[in-house]
Amino acid sequence: MPIWNNEMETIDRSRLEAMQLERLQKTVKKVYDNVVPYRERMEKAGVTPEDIKTLDDLSKLPFTTKDDLREYYPFGLFAVPLEEVTEIHASSGTTGKQVIGGLTENDVEMWAEIAARSLSAMGAEKGDVVHTSYGFGLFTGGFGAHYGARKIGAMAIPMSSGNSKRQIKLMKDLGSTYLCCTPSYAMSLAEVLYDMGYTKDDISLKGGVFGAEPWTEEMRREIEDKLGIKAYDIYGLTEVVGPGVSYECTEQAGMHINEDHFIAEVIDPETGETVPDGSMGELVFTCITKEAMPLIRYRTRDLCVVTKQKCKCGRTFARMSKPVGRTDDMLIIRGVNVFPSQIEEVLMRTDGIAPYYQIIVDRVNNKDTLDVLIEISSMGMSDEIRDLEQLTKNVSKELLSALGIKANVKLVEPKTITRSEGKAVRVIDKRILR
Ligand code: ADP
Ligand code: ZN
Repeated sequence: MPIWNNEMETIDRSRLEAMQLERLQKTVKKVYDNVVPYRERMEKAGVTPEDIKTLDDLSKLPFTTKDDLREYYPFGLFAVPLEEVTEIHASSGTTGKQVIGGLTENDVEMWAEIAARSLSAMGAEKGDVVHTSYGFGLFTGGFGAHYGARKIGAMAIPMSSGNSKRQIKLMKDLGSTYLCCTPSYAMSLAEVLYDMGYTKDDISLKGGVFGAEPWTEEMRREIEDKLGIKAYDIYGLTEVVGPGVSYECTEQAGMHINEDHFIAEVIDPETGETVPDGSMGELVFTCITKEAMPLIRYRTRDLCVVTKQKCKCGRTFARMSKPVGRTDDMLIIRGVNVFPSQIEEVLMRTDGIAPYYQIIVDRVNNKDTLDVLIEISSMGMSDEIRDLEQLTKNVSKELLSALGIKANVKLVEPKTITRSEGKAVRVIDKRILR
């Protein structure tokens, strides 16, 4: 399969690292000279741009956090005059106040390039019809996929999300071959496809470009099966640029990080120390080519594993595992750490239930409670009470062994859990709402 930018994507690591160092030094100097908060922090930490002599010296620089972006909202961390900024995006606000990302024309070009690498790695090319059902309203998902699709010369369909029946109709009429959206919306679209009386044989989809939220391997198989496609993972964040920061290749063995534009570190979220290659930790990015808002050591709060081991596809860029979630997605229930993705894993491998669920955490009589609402599948499931009781028992047992704590499993009628059109809201934590 052709590689979009063979020279970069298969670059020798020593050449890559030399390039990274040069770009890092330039970026650090630029923010030191142009962005007051960066200069102040570096002064406080006792570092100057001249202290960055090797890539390891990166660890001398202070971290940047989402709170910093909120504090300097909207333009306080921009490194160019505002008239150079040609596009603004905002995060979805999943974990609080939205943050802004700004791009110069060169930044937009870089984004199109990394999105093109991503789509190509997933097998898309000129002649494909790329149907983008990520949102476009300030969210980066829609534009990232759109710029990438145009760049590879595909026919770009900027649908945006919602109005699922219309999505299916156009998918059929236009012969869409790649679908770009959140994995949870892909599931919803699959459901609507079948509800409309069609099957995967009535559409021409080959591949899916799914990201913007955590999803499990089990969910991947479910979507692949329902839509008759290969479902690929893509990762990105507004602060850094958007989807395409990293992308899966057809090996489906982790997402290649575009290391000529971003340096990735993995740290222990408690201590801030770098963890060894291949260990789980919080992902930290430094932008080394961005002009408008080059973030230095930005703490993503996403937890994953990064490896530099070579991939079978020939690309040399390091790969990150599917993020299990964000540090702030982690629920602490009766003192036990629980990620929603652990629950999803169990549910997806159980027969008789639909892939829609809702997690409700509460505090009753000073004790945390965990309710897991699961839809019964409308197809092929007997509604005999005995069978339903058995199903509840099985799921409870599996959840107990996966999580180490007891969950109250509640089966609900088909189609009662709200369907996602963007990022799915899996958890309602009533302890926070009170
Ligand atoms: P928000 O933080 O408001 O959701 P964004 O819309 O910019 O902001 O989303 C970026 C975040 O989405 C990432 O930090 C990460 O938590 C999540 N994300 C993006 N892509 C993926 C993916 N492929 N797998 C898991 N999580 C992802
Ligand atoms: Zn690969």
